[in-house]
Amino acid sequence: MRVYNNQRRILVTGGAGFLGSHLCERLLAQGHDVLCVDNFFTGTRRNVEHLLGNPHFELMRHDVTLPLYVEVDQVYNLACPASPVHYQHDPVQTTKTSVHGAINMLGLAKRVHARILQASTSEVYGDPDVHPQPESYWGKVNPIGVRSCYDEGKRCAETLFFDYHRQHGVDIRVARIFNTYGPRMHPRDGRVVSNFIVQALCGDPITIYGEGLQTRSFCFVDDLVEGLNRFMELAPGEPGPVNIGNPVEFTVRELAQQVIRLTGSSSKLVFEPLPSDDPMQRRPDIRRAKELFGWQPRVQLEKGLRKTIEYFDGLLTAGELPAVQRAGTQGAAVVPASVNGITVHAPFDA
Ligand code: NAD
Ligand code: UDP
Ligand code: UDP
Repeated sequence: MRVYNNQRRILVTGGAGFLGSHLCERLLAQGHDVLCVDNFFTGTRRNVEHLLGNPHFELMRHDVTLPLYVEVDQVYNLACPASPVHYQHDPVQTTKTSVHGAINMLGLAKRVHARILQASTSEVYGDPDVHPQPESYWGKVNPIGVRSCYDEGKRCAETLFFDYHRQHGVDIRVARIFNTYGPRMHPRDGRVVSNFIVQALCGDPITIYGEGLQTRSFCFVDDLVEGLNRFMELAPGEPGPVNIGNPVEFTVRELAQQVIRLTGSSSKLVFEPLPSDDPMQRRPDIRRAKELFGWQPRVQLEKGLRKTIEYFDGLLTAGELPAVQRAGTQGAAVVPASVNGITVHAPFDA
């Protein structure tokens, strides 16, 4: 690894997405050179527009399912659609992105002796019957359902990471990310936090799937990026997997109530069918992250929601949040509205 004064050349795949754009910002602030690679399927140039003038930042349009030859010291592999609506739009491409993307990025890391971190997911635990979920739990995943392209793709990527580690000595980090929210989530990606906030701000009904008694644990993006970065910077020898998420658990209905309260919205709750294979509960056991790199989330839900509401309110004021057409219960089965001429179910362009 080439390091002058701790300054590194860092590749962030999926860097124009929600999490990736925040990560790029953080790495630049630390003085690193950042190469952001993205095919703009769900991310946009706009997410990194403010970084384009920085001489330490480079944006490359590229699909990670294809080989990539660059010289870097570290790789954060985030490229993959993350919301059910997006990853179910083209499930074969989702699996290819996770699996072929992992092979290419691991091949690259092997060739240039770079450390590589995989953005894995709590979805590897499926609909868990162990609660909260420790890293030692192997999960309960349906291999043939509509979520499988994402869950199994990410599981296979983890396998590849550990096999490149064992077989080729690649210095890997596998981070299992739990539900994360914050500014720059796409307003139409169908995830619960963005849906509820957009619906509340537009005065539209808040769509609760099922009875809303399923739980999630929501981590604010700044906490998440801090966790990924600390994990990456650990001395060699700790591949993970490590859960990164907020262990405070809420029902979906509680989340809706918080959003209504914080926006002062008059939106009513409407109940829609629960999508298939929707996990009933999810909460990370984060003891390993605490022990290894002293990390735990700091931003409580209310504070994080306020910042996220402020972001979406800004889009609304700027006329960039057209009247809401609700995302559907079965993800790709329903075609949502277009945003600035961009349709959710077609690849996003910059
Ligand atoms: P996102 O959709 O905003 O970002 C994903 C980015 O990857 C987008 O910019 C997209 O254009 C890009 N991308 C997709 N396919 C690609 C390909 N084949 N080649 C190049 N770029 C491609 O989603 P996000 O929430 O920022 O998620 C980032 C990563 O974190 C994903 O790997 C996701 O699985 C993982 N993750 C996120 C969460 C969460 O709650 N946000 C939870 C668990 C895991
Ligand atoms: N690869 C890449 N960039 C590199 C090196 C490799 O994209 O700098 C890709 C290449 O497409 C290859 C894959 O990574 O197919 C896996 O590489 P590896 O060396 O493990 O396998 P091999 O080249 O023997 O198939
Ligand atoms: N959900 C909901 N209404 C929405 C969007 C999502 O009730 O408008 C529910 C969804 O069924 C799931 C939870 O919120 O139980 C989290 O959904 P999300 O898509 O954000 O993340 P994931 O299911 O991948 O954890």
